[in-house]
Amino acid sequence: MKILVINCGSSSIKYQLLDMESAEKYTLLAKGNLEKISLPDSKLTHKPTGKEPVVVMQPVPDHTLGMKLVLDALTDPKTGVIKHFDEIDAVGHRIVQGADFFSGSVLVDEDVMKKIEICCDYAPLHNPAHILGIRAMQHVLPKVPQVVVFDTAFHQTMEPKAYMYALPYEYYEKYRVRRYGAHGTSHLYVSRRGALKAGLDINNSKIITCHIGNGSSVTAILNGKSIDTSMGFTPLEGMIMGTRCGSIDANIVPYIMKKEGLTPDEMTDIMNKKSGFIGLQKKSSDMRDMVTFSEQGDERAQLVRDMVVHHITKLVGGYIAEMNGVDLIIFTAGIAENNPWLPLAVCKHFEYMGLKMDEAATNAARDEAIISAPDSSVKVAMIPTNEELMIAIDTMNIAKAL
Ligand code: ADP
Repeated sequence: MKILVINCGSSSIKYQLLDMESAEKYTLLAKGNLEKISLPDSKLTHKPTGKEPVVVMQPVPDHTLGMKLVLDALTDPKTGVIKHFDEIDAVGHRIVQGADFFSGSVLVDEDVMKKIEICCDYAPLHNPAHILGIRAMQHVLPKVPQVVVFDTAFHQTMEPKAYMYALPYEYYEKYRVRRYGAHGTSHLYVSRRGALKAGLDINNSKIITCHIGNGSSVTAILNGKSIDTSMGFTPLEGMIMGTRCGSIDANIVPYIMKKEGLTPDEMTDIMNKKSGFIGLQKKSSDMRDMVTFSEQGDERAQLVRDMVVHHITKLVGGYIAEMNGVDLIIFTAGIAENNPWLPLAVCKHFEYMGLKMDEAATNAARDEAIISAPDSSVKVAMIPTNEELMIAIDTMNIAKAL
């Protein structure tokens, strides 16, 4: 079954075409990224598996033409990997915000579209772009089933004590202000893969997943279900990130706004795009640079690294207490997958409970790997995330049942 996975941003379309035999057996046929939609210098980078990558520079005024360009690249006699559009059996769309409407992936219909539209309020940068992407796909592939997979759905199993904020209750009733979490597709995927790798029964397990990338979140997963997560109403909450401040005392917000004469939009921009690594260190929001700079003696870069470890440690410690124990701690995403010092530094704080790392295995981990020592009381794993595959699996299962 050929599944096209689409991750649509306001000016970009990222895609993967996968040939799915089953959840375990699949082939990536091609992937690519169309950037700068609506600008004169739109650029499509198409990477067909086993062939040379292709770059197409041509103005793409809107998402519908963008989707056409993607389908043209996939079916082109030279660069393509399929002969015709109708070989695509289903399309899976990543959706950032599904609020409490969706606790799993669903087939797109007009009711689903209405709900995704309501959720634009909580994800103004992402959901409108996803809607454009779905509409464009419906236009160019009208007969193909479209499935939506939500970043928030996995966290819908949280109880009110974990998802409520202690604000006046009417803000929850009137504006749905509560914790929704994010990265759900990744936390779900790595928890399943990690449980398999560690030989755990997911239905009888205590797992903590640390997704540490440019955006970062940590989740407590009890018996396969998310019971708490560090991102909140929006992805701003939780730990320090590349450009986001994470959790701060809320009183700081009006204080700085008054002092600096900032509007709500300006303050939102500062907290989301100008804080975190870039806010503290000033030169970069990238962990590679933090490592290079700190090794050259840059104290701010070292502070960033120390804060990342400190924040993850507090979250993991809190979630161990919430679950009354932990069987497996999983590290994933760009920063955690490529910086072995990070899981080593975090896990040092849990030596008191018998956790022992295997330093050589941690340094060598490139693919899925157990990185704790054989006699450790708690297993620790490195599991590369693959959100596109998870989206393809859900899409395949829904399309198969039609
Ligand atoms: P996103 O949230 O954009 O998906 P990623 O999961 O790709 O982010 O993570 C991006 C982060 O991962 C960056 O801070 C980057 O420095 C870090 N990273 C990626 N590859 C490497 C690498 N080879 N070595 C060190 N850090 C890396």
